[in-house]
Amino acid sequence: MDLIEKIYNAGVVGAGGAGFPSHIKLNNRAEYLIINGVECEPLLGTDKFLMRNKAKEIVLAINEIAKNLGAREVFIATKESYNEEINSVTKEIKENGFRIKIHKMKSFYPAGDEQVLVKEVIGKTVPPGGIPINVNTVVSNVGTAYNIYEAINDKPVIRKFISILGEIKNPMILNVPIGTSILECINAAGGSTIKDYAIIIGGPMMGKIISHEEAKNRTITKTDGALIIISKNHVLYKRKSLGLDKIIKISKSACIQCSYCTDLCPRFLLGHVIRPHRIMRALTCFDEDNEIFNESLLCSECGVCENYACPMGLSPREVNVYIKSIVRAKGKKANQKLLEENSMRDFRLVPTEKLLIRLGLNKYKTQKLQSYMEISADKVTISLKQHIGSPAKPVVEVGQRVEEGQLIGDIEKNLLGAKIHASISGIVKHVGEQIVIESDNKEVIK
Ligand code: SF4
Ligand code: SF4
Repeated sequence: MDLIEKIYNAGVVGAGGAGFPSHIKLNNRAEYLIINGVECEPLLGTDKFLMRNKAKEIVLAINEIAKNLGAREVFIATKESYNEEINSVTKEIKENGFRIKIHKMKSFYPAGDEQVLVKEVIGKTVPPGGIPINVNTVVSNVGTAYNIYEAINDKPVIRKFISILGEIKNPMILNVPIGTSILECINAAGGSTIKDYAIIIGGPMMGKIISHEEAKNRTITKTDGALIIISKNHVLYKRKSLGLDKIIKISKSACIQCSYCTDLCPRFLLGHVIRPHRIMRALTCFDEDNEIFNESLLCSECGVCENYACPMGLSPREVNVYIKSIVRAKGKKANQKLLEENSMRDFRLVPTEKLLIRLGLNKYKTQKLQSYMEISADKVTISLKQHIGSPAKPVVEVGQRVEEGQLIGDIEKNLLGAKIHASISGIVKHVGEQIVIESDNKEVIK
């Protein structure tokens, strides 16, 4: 069986972000392969954990991926400060005699944005609205590479490594079955140190923030990489709770047109025509057909504008998300013009340390996430759509007994989607948009 078939059978998707199905992304030829080990979002430790502890698996998988792509140059991009991680992967690369280079980057945000990575590593700019393959490059990440190693050994994606930190008793890396309740993850890490908390699923910049109550119905998916527990009084939760109507109203009245959001926008700095301050200005005389709104299609939703740049505490990112949905529905296209890289780019990269302070999360930077725990679950709720593209179709019935690793949701190979597997053995209790499995051995091993 070839590599792509194995990846397809194991249901591998990008381990972070939108979760692009890997059997489609990697079924390509490319000159460059860049593996993202940057851990772009502040505070997280999952990729670093994998580079320290699963270096062998990761470099073996990278070598297979590179062969399959026919890649001429292969890089693991990481931050220059990750000494232990760099040593760990370098040792494996040397021992195996692989031609994988380590590309060391400064600590700035969003160093791991794939278009920023491509620029930093191979010096080319992905065209506006394009993807790395437009410049002969494939970008994947270390978590995905680890899952591909497992796929090569016929093991499907059924577990996730999760950084859990913030207002939690034991900040750590958890390894959990996909479909485990978020609240169970919090309990496994000793519970929260505060009563009234909210949870950032993912990183503080691009993650989704939900309340403790909403978390009751949320389980871990293939694309989740972190849980950050924060107070409900934290500015990040308060901002998220504002709601779109208020965000738009405040934006119309409070934007001072300083243009910092544009000046610091990582995509603008690359030379893409995206000017969030002009989008904010256009809100005041709202016209859906205003050409400036098409620029929102180039927004990566990185959050630099709202969490770092804006002196008024406004949310150009949220506005872009809203405007994007309107212009997409109208079939509008992004401006494809590529300008020169902004001459100030190097001076306007956002230092991670400063960003943490601005985010009000600096106090958690001492949580080093060195401890690790694998947990099991007695019940999992597994979504049939955990990533972009089409949902998988259920192939099990209520009452059926399934074994860990058994296929429970299938997808045709040519569709954008991924197979889903049972993450625990047990009885299928529900089949709908999600599949619920309850263990018939209720003893939970921790
Ligand atoms: S979120 Fe803001 S800073 Fe980031 S790409 Fe979009 S407009 Fe630019
Ligand atoms: S940074 Fe804030 S105040 Fe300044 S132009 Fe952008 S949205 Fe308006």
